[in-house]
Amino acid sequence: MNENDLIYSFAKAHMIRASGLIALMMPQTLGAGVAVKAMDGRYMLVNQIMQTFFNKTVEQFTSLTNADLFPSEVAAQLQQSDRQISDGAATCSDQLDFLLDGKPVQCLWFKFPVHGPDGQILFIGAAMLDTLRTGNIEKMQKSLEHLQNTNQELQKSLVELSQMASTDKLTGAWNRRRLEEALLKEMDRLKRYDHPLSMLILDIDFFKKVNDDCGHSVGDQVLVKMASVVQSSLRASDSLTRWGGEEFVVLCPDTTLSTVALLAERLRASIAKTVFPDVGQVTISLGVAECRADETWEDWFKRADAALYRAKAGGRNQVQLAPETPQRGAAGGNVATNFVRLSWHAAYESGNPVIDDQHRGLFTDANQLLGAVLSGRPEAEVAALVNTLVKDVVQHFKDEEVIIRAAGYPRADEHAAIHGKLVDKAVVLVKHFHDGTLATGELFQFLAHDVVARHILGADREFFAYLQSNINQATVAAKREKN
Ligand code: GH3
Ligand code: MG
Ligand code: MG
Repeated sequence: MNENDLIYSFAKAHMIRASGLIALMMPQTLGAGVAVKAMDGRYMLVNQIMQTFFNKTVEQFTSLTNADLFPSEVAAQLQQSDRQISDGAATCSDQLDFLLDGKPVQCLWFKFPVHGPDGQILFIGAAMLDTLRTGNIEKMQKSLEHLQNTNQELQKSLVELSQMASTDKLTGAWNRRRLEEALLKEMDRLKRYDHPLSMLILDIDFFKKVNDDCGHSVGDQVLVKMASVVQSSLRASDSLTRWGGEEFVVLCPDTTLSTVALLAERLRASIAKTVFPDVGQVTISLGVAECRADETWEDWFKRADAALYRAKAGGRNQVQLAPETPQRGAAGGNVATNFVRLSWHAAYESGNPVIDDQHRGLFTDANQLLGAVLSGRPEAEVAALVNTLVKDVVQHFKDEEVIIRAAGYPRADEHAAIHGKLVDKAVVLVKHFHDGTLATGELFQFLAHDVVARHILGADREFFAYLQSNINQATVAAKREKN
């Protein structure tokens, strides 16, 4: 292996593919000795000039430290500047004047950090000018400036390289590699701390036709604009990845399925109303899935992809959810926090047929509202479903108050007061919704989640015991009151 091969393989192994570093190491460059040292001070690579200067081969150099090469006070001085670099200094230099094998030596050492793609300092770079032999101070300063520029270019190209290595050139979105790195971290957070994690996959509808009709470069512009519209709707913690062709993945940390479903719907709606130059309207289909704690990335992706497939098969320009919501925080009132479609369970039965019928009806109302929101039904239709849900809630609260009073539930007044508060808040939110000052998603969250699911699965359970021992009386009382 010759010196150049060594340099290349070193650079490759450490992903310092920057041409700057390699150029710096080449024998012809600058007339300077150049070395790369590990953070613990061991020499890892030296160029030809350095080898000649110390009269050692690369092999002999490897693993030596300054203490092996210099008199102790010089070694101490050099060690101190190493420390400055590892503490974060951008550059530093040492003027040395000493005897090497009995001969006087004067040289200038210039140190700089070598950064990896993630910005961490990987190595300490050192460049040395033999000032006795270089002679001309002006020439030396020139070399130093050159070296400094090279170092800056080197740093810049390392940053660019790591950017390039992790983003898609056309759209600026992350590439798969970058996503895979982030996934490891996020899936770990899910498994360790139970932080929810969701994704959506989106795919442009009939994109082949855009290319066929308008040309490939117009198609490219659609991809660019689409990525930027999507990007602008995401939170800082969400990331957009170009998965391939006209397919993108959005990773949403700390996000449950119901929330990512609403985000997906927002993205669908904003793309549908965006005007794409030379093309006009473009639509996207989306599949969303929340990651289960026991799931691999592949299985999770498969579920999101299957949902996307259903969105395509169902007519495109729509969002579909992967089935099987993860069960988090198994017990208690938390069950509903990651619901999307409310599904009725026998355990929710109070034993009173009127209350149970109404509770089931409210679940259905909420599901219909969610369905309309997710499939982008016209606003008037969504508004009508909101009104139905609110009307049914109000009627149900009235009936339930009569039933629990008749059953002798001692905290009936308190329960009625909770109803009153929920209705008051619903009235205000619905008003904002009709004014256009409240997003559908937030209203849905309150009506379906707080009023329907949480109240039924939480506060209502407290009177279940009374109903079960007084079933007949209570139902009769309610019927009497109604008639
Ligand atoms: P569907 O609604 O089923 O998704 O139909 P589609 O036409 O979008 O899907 P299909 O997978 O058949 O075609 C995708 C097209 O995307 C084909 C390919 O030429 C085009 N495409 C992929 N990558 C690029 C790109 O970087 N630039 C452009 N302009 N087109 C691309
Ligand atoms: Mg496709
Ligand atoms: Mg497509």
